[in-house]
Amino acid sequence: MPKTRMTNQRRIILEELRKLHTHPTVDELYALVKTRMPHISLGTVYRNLDLLAETGKVVKLSSAGNMRRFDGNTAPHHHIFCKVCGRVADVPSSAFPSVPRESVQIPGFTVTAVRVEYDGLCEACMTRAEKGEVQEQAS
Ligand SMILES: [Zn+2]
Ligand SMILES: [Zn+2]
Repeated sequence: MPKTRMTNQRRIILEELRKLHTHPTVDELYALVKTRMPHISLGTVYRNLDLLAETGKVVKLSSAGNMRRFDGNTAPHHHIFCKVCGRVADVPSSAFPSVPRESVQIPGFTVTAVRVEYDGLCEACMTRAEKGEVQEQAS
């Protein structure tokens, strides 16, 4: 029953992603999912994540450098990206209140979501930067 197995895999991937608040990369999530399904392949995890993103069950973060990261929290919220290591965190809603998508008018488009991205340094990279160990990358 390949169909049932697919659904089960997808459910487990979704469960694992929703437990995390770290916005994991596909590789990170793959390592976790593998502890529950040792025979799953990286390609299967990729495919299921893309499907989950297409159906709106997870959010794909596209601008985290070369690495695709995923968020199990689909409530509207904003993200900060560390410019050095690519770490992602949620921006507290008090820092930037959600903009109602109805209030944004862009000719030729229907706005379905509004997201604001913050760039910065995470605590670990900031410490290293203060010691002169890393250079903030100009984007
Ligand atoms: Zn960092
Ligand atoms: Zn998030």
